[in-house]
Amino acid sequence: QINERDKLEGIWRLFKLEVPVEKDPGKDFLGVSDGLLEQIAKALKFSVASMLPPEAFTVVRKSFDARKKEPKFVYTVNMDVNQLLSLQPRTLDFILKLEPRIGLVEHLSQQGDSGVSGDLTNIIKNCRGDVGITGSAEDGVPANKNGRLLKNPITSKPKVAVVGSGPSGLFASLVLAEFGADVTLIERGQAVEQRGRDIGALVVRRMLQVESNFCFGEGGAGTWSDGKLVTRIGKNSSSVLAVLETLVNFGAPKSILISGKPHLGTDKLVPLLRNFRNYLQELGVTIRFGTRVDDLLVEGAQVMGVRVSDSVSNPSSTGLKLPFDAVVLAVGHSARDTYQMLLCHDVEMVRKDFAVGLRVEHPQELINSIQYSELANEVQSGRGKVPVADYKVAEFVNNQHEGTSLDSGPTNRSCYSFCMCPGGQVVLTSTDPSELCINGMSFSRRSSRWANAALVVSVSSSDFEAFNFEGPLAGVDFQREFERRAALMGGGKFVVPVQTVTDFLEGTLSVRSLPSSSYRLGVKAANLHELFPPNITQALQHSLLTFEKELPGFVSNIALLHGVETRTSSPVQITRSGDTYESTSLKGLYPIGEGAGYAGGIVSAAVDGMYAGFALAKNLGLYNGGI
Ligand code: FAD
Repeated sequence: QINERDKLEGIWRLFKLEVPVEKDPGKDFLGVSDGLLEQIAKALKFSVASMLPPEAFTVVRKSFDARKKEPKFVYTVNMDVNQLLSLQPRTLDFILKLEPRIGLVEHLSQQGDSGVSGDLTNIIKNCRGDVGITGSAEDGVPANKNGRLLKNPITSKPKVAVVGSGPSGLFASLVLAEFGADVTLIERGQAVEQRGRDIGALVVRRMLQVESNFCFGEGGAGTWSDGKLVTRIGKNSSSVLAVLETLVNFGAPKSILISGKPHLGTDKLVPLLRNFRNYLQELGVTIRFGTRVDDLLVEGAQVMGVRVSDSVSNPSSTGLKLPFDAVVLAVGHSARDTYQMLLCHDVEMVRKDFAVGLRVEHPQELINSIQYSELANEVQSGRGKVPVADYKVAEFVNNQHEGTSLDSGPTNRSCYSFCMCPGGQVVLTSTDPSELCINGMSFSRRSSRWANAALVVSVSSSDFEAFNFEGPLAGVDFQREFERRAALMGGGKFVVPVQTVTDFLEGTLSVRSLPSSSYRLGVKAANLHELFPPNITQALQHSLLTFEKELPGFVSNIALLHGVETRTSSPVQITRSGDTYESTSLKGLYPIGEGAGYAGGIVSAAVDGMYAGFALAKNLGLYNGGI
C-alpha cells in the first residue's frame, strides 16, 4: 500500500465539478464551499463530504454555465494528496482507487503543478542566469548571432525603441528591460491620467484629440475597453498564465487567474497601467508620451533609428532623429499613417482577411432573461450571484444558402458576434474626425443597462478589389470607405447612424421612436442596410435570423444596430521571420502585436510582445535560452 500511495502523491486535478446555483455562494466566491465539497466527495466516491478538509483543495477555474436547463457553476480543482491525507487519513482508500480519466481526473505531478509557470518577472529573472554573449569580435565588441556587431556593446547596453504602449509594446519593453536592454518606449498618445481627460472631453464636448483617444495612448486600444482577457491561445498555456500573473502583480484581481471568462473593465485597467509604467521606469525604461514615430532611419536594408515628432507641444516639428540598434513596432491597427510610412520604405506587408459589420445593442435585462430565464433576477446589475449574461453566436454563410443571393465576393463567409460587452457601452474609436467607427467598453461591475456586441462578416481580398482597392493596404482603404459612409449617414459631429434589428431585416428606415442607446454622442436613424454591399448586408440579415433561433428575442425592435464596426483585427500583416520576429525585408525592425497582424485581443498581443522581447533579446546577444 505504501508504494501505491507514493505513486499517487502530489497534485491531482479534478475537472467538471458542477455546483447548482442555489448551493454556490456566487460568482465572486473563489474558495471551496460546502456545495463544491459535495461534488468533490462524489468524484472521490467518499461518502461524507463534510469530513473533507477544504484546505486540501484549490480552485483553479470557475465558470458559469447557463446553457442547460439547470444553470450551474463548473469548477476545476487541484487536490493536494499529501495535505488531504495528513488532515483526513480516512480518504486513503478512496484515493488509491482514483484513476486518471481524460477531462475528469488528471495526475499533475509528484511535486505539484509544474505546468503552471511563475510570474513573468521570475521567468525572466531565471533566464538571466543563462545570459551569454554570442560570439565576440577580435576587438572584444560583442556580436549578435548573425555576426552583426552591436553598435552599443553590452558595456553600454543595446538601445531599443519600442513604438507603442499597447499590451504588445508594454510586454516587449518589460522583457527587454529585464534582460538589460536600454529601452525607450515611444507613445504618440498620452499617459492614462491625461488620456482620461481627453476621452472625457470627447464624450462630453465632442472634442476628438487625434493623438489621444480610445485607440491611442498609454495601454493602447485595450485601456478604455471591456478588458476581456479571454484568448483563443488557450487559457492554460504557460505564456497566457505568465501574462495574467504579471497583470496580477501590477494590481489586477487574482480572480482573473481562476475565472473561466476573466475580465477587468476600464476602472481596473487604468491603475494597473500606472503600476506597469512605474515598474518599467524603475527598470530604467525611458517613456516618451505624446511622441509619434513618423519615420524610420534606414541605411541599406537596416533600421538605424527613428524620426519622431513631438505631436503635442510641437505638431509641425520636422522631427528629431533618434538612433537605435533595433526598433520594435507595436503600433496597433489604427496607425494607418505608420503603415503608409512602411510602404514608402518597401517594408514587406500583405493583405489580411478581417471582418466588418455593425454593433448591436440590447437592454441587458433582455439578454439576462434570454440566457437565464427566472435566474435573471440573480444578476442584480453585476452585484448578484451570477455573472451579467453574455452571448456568443456564429453562423457560416454560403452563397448558395436558401433565401440569400450573395452574388459577389467570396463563396463562404462567417458571420459572428465579436467583443461582446455585457453591461457596457458603445464608444467612438475614430482617430480621424472625417471617419466614424465604434467599439464597446465596460467597467468592472458591468452594471450599465445595455449589452452590446459587434456582429461582423468576414471580408477578404476579393471584397477590396470589388472597390478597386489595390496593394497591401487595400483592406485599410476598404475600412476607411465604410467609416466615411457611416460618418456621412450620421450627419457629422460623431453622431452614429442606427437602425433597429427588425427594420434592418425589412430594409426600412426606423421611423418610430428609437430605443435608447448607450452611445453618448447621439444616434440618428439611417438606412444601414444600404451601408455595405448587398452581399455583406444579406449575410448579416441571414445570420440575424439564425441567431434568433439560438437566442429567442434577439431579433427585436428594441435591439439597435449601430454603424460601423470595421477595426475587428488588422487588415495587414507585416511579414516577419517565425524565429527571430524580425521583418523579412528590413533588418532591425520587429513588427509585433495586432497591428502587425500577429495577435487579436489584449492577451494575445501581450503574449506576442513577450515572445518578441525574448527573440530580440536573443538576437542582441542578451539571452541565449530557448523561446
Ligand atoms: P494597441 O493596443 O492598438 O497599441 C498600439 C499603441 O501604439 C497605441 O497606444 C498607439 O497610440 C501607439 N502608436 C501607434 N502609432 C504610433 C506611432 N507612429 N508612434 C508612436 N506610437 C504609436 N481586446 C480584448 O482582448 N478584450 C477586450 O475587451 C477588448 N475591448 C476593446 C475595446 C475597444 C474600445 C477597443 C478599441 C479594442 C478592444 N480590444 C479588446 C482589442 C485590444 O484592445 C487590442 O487587440 C490590443 O490592444 C492590441 O494590442 P497592441 O499592443 O497590438 O496594439
